[in-house]
Amino acid sequence: MLKYPLFQSFYGGVHLESHKNTSNHKQIARDFLPSRLIIPMNQQFGSDAIPSVKVGQLIQKGEVIGKPAEKNTTAVHASCSGRVGAIEKHPVPTAGKVSTSTCVIIETNDENNIAAQKPPLFKNHLDKLTAINHAGIVGLGGAAFPTAEKLNRKSSHCEMLILNGAECEPYISCDDLLMQEHATEVLRGALAMMEIVGAELTVVVIEKDKPKAIEAISNAIETIGSKCIRLTDIPTMYPTGGERQLVEALTGKEVPSGKYPIDVGCICQNVGTAYALDCFFQLGEPLINRIVTVTGQGVKNPQNVAVPIGAPIVELIKFCGGYDGEVSQLILGGNMMGYTVDTDQLPVTKSTNCIITTKKATTPKPFEIWPCIRCGECIPVCPVRLLPQQILKAYENKNFEELGKLGLSECIECGCCDVVCPSHIPLVENFRKAKHLRMQEIKSSELSNAAQKRYELKTQRLSSQHANTEKLHADLKESIKESSKNDMIKAAVERSKKRRDKK
Ligand code: SF4
Ligand code: SF4
Repeated sequence: MLKYPLFQSFYGGVHLESHKNTSNHKQIARDFLPSRLIIPMNQQFGSDAIPSVKVGQLIQKGEVIGKPAEKNTTAVHASCSGRVGAIEKHPVPTAGKVSTSTCVIIETNDENNIAAQKPPLFKNHLDKLTAINHAGIVGLGGAAFPTAEKLNRKSSHCEMLILNGAECEPYISCDDLLMQEHATEVLRGALAMMEIVGAELTVVVIEKDKPKAIEAISNAIETIGSKCIRLTDIPTMYPTGGERQLVEALTGKEVPSGKYPIDVGCICQNVGTAYALDCFFQLGEPLINRIVTVTGQGVKNPQNVAVPIGAPIVELIKFCGGYDGEVSQLILGGNMMGYTVDTDQLPVTKSTNCIITTKKATTPKPFEIWPCIRCGECIPVCPVRLLPQQILKAYENKNFEELGKLGLSECIECGCCDVVCPSHIPLVENFRKAKHLRMQEIKSSELSNAAQKRYELKTQRLSSQHANTEKLHADLKESIKESSKNDMIKAAVERSKKRRDKK
């Protein structure tokens, strides 16, 4: 069944100091009930859901409050019971930045029982995928890509389901705790996915620095007794959790640029997604909460919390004992690939896996930035085999063609090059700006190409119109000439006829 060993090797990456033990020493807290929820309609990749409730309406936990706008997008549900207080625009964290989205605001109450749910029954494969969308299930590794859509990508045969429990970001421990406490559910979710995609094998990938999760998953594999699930522990190295990196490490196959893991016979799913799928298949529960790591030196009781989607970050921090001293930074996601936000009045969304608080007193001063010394340190650490120094140079020269050739769009913004750069150049920050500018450049050149094309078509049309008019005029002239010639002949014939008649 398996044509290669379960781990080959990783290319690039760096070893980072771990901060997981700040938050992974406690069980997942499951008694957090916020006083209000700000539930965004745009939590998933793709178009926003449309609110399906009215202000003042009483709603029950698990009830649909946002219907999918399109067939292949996901629904949004109430994560606690309560009354709809408002439907309004609110700042929400999405895809690496804060933007504004329509949100359903719910004032929660104590009747927090989930609306009666039953394990769903499916008529066929399509029915199952539609149900997964209606249950609001998206990838919980951070991208929030609709799970049904990913499971339905069938460009080639799926050989292997890779269950991603690597969790390589130094501060995040939510997947670690989930695997420790819900190993059986995670594996049941994986078996359900395997059935959908027709995979022959599931490989659960966990970094070696999570011995308790490794033990729990290994015991659960034994209990379930499936020969189709294997566990592989991989070296603790950042960024092992990237889809493309995992596929290459496990199979030795490189996912070509612009292609997906399924194109080389693999599908990657996060362990949290497998758990969410199991909750839906076993209990009929939609995706209404997720485990969030609340950590860093700026919070009194760092821990992992099962958070109702839409809970305000400010209330979550309060649940974790509140801020410890003056906080200088609030980072959503990991310290490597996350992003800083300047307010805690934002909601937790399906993609919020971690909140890091950094204390002002302990935040080191930023390093002075020096020019590139061409040491080449950034090259061997790039997991995508890019040339960061050359990309930087092309960006500084605003050479967009060169940026395209150097594969800027392949950069996963992992920050490995930042870590090793002795000149402290914020390479990732520059690459993000470069991507943005390049996109603008592509758009504007597309627009100017389209304008040029329109101009050429117009000129062509006008010149052909002109030629037609010219021809028309010429024909007209000719026909007038012809007709007047005919008239003249006619008149002469008439005249001669009259003369003849007179005689
Ligand atoms: S590591 Fe920094 S200084 Fe060295 S080549 Fe790369 S960008 Fe330049
Ligand atoms: S941030 Fe981009 S260029 Fe730098 S190491 Fe990561 S993938 Fe390579």
